[in-house]
Amino acid sequence: MVSEKDCIFCKIVRAEIPCSKIYEDNEFLAFLDIRPINKGHTLVVPKLHCKNLLDFPKAEETDLIEFIKKVANAVVKATKADGFNLGMNNGRASGQVIPHAHFHIIPRFSDDGLRHWPNREYEKGEIDKVQKKIVSFL
Ligand code: AMP
Ligand code: ZN
Repeated sequence: MVSEKDCIFCKIVRAEIPCSKIYEDNEFLAFLDIRPINKGHTLVVPKLHCKNLLDFPKAEETDLIEFIKKVANAVVKATKADGFNLGMNNGRASGQVIPHAHFHIIPRFSDDGLRHWPNREYEKGEIDKVQKKIVSFL
């Protein structure tokens, strides 16, 4: 487990290592991803260390969706993007490499050549079983 002391995004929040800051408030920070999927790819992180969405701190003041909308709007305008993806990897199996929760705002272009994830099919009746199982954990 990575401690706050060693966590790279905590170090960015504490300004111990540099970042290309886009926006911040008391609880969240947005900065450019250093290895962007497309240029302008921006990360939004809570300033409090947490590893993923499931242990995300409850924001005291910030309306997180409004924060993300504000940043995404600026990213899209600045890059003249045709759209954007809002993504979040949670856990190593999902592709999360940095264990400090973060949202990806990725500007997208009609001709950027990136492909979406492939879709799968349910077996007959399977979708009802999956639905009931998920609901049973709520
Ligand atoms: P994830 O795979 O969801 O954990 O994404 C981690 C992201 O953090 C990757 O897209 C990296 O390019 C990005 N990243 C890693 N180190 C830094 C850094 N020092 N500053 C900005 N972005 C970083
Ligand atoms: Zn951290």
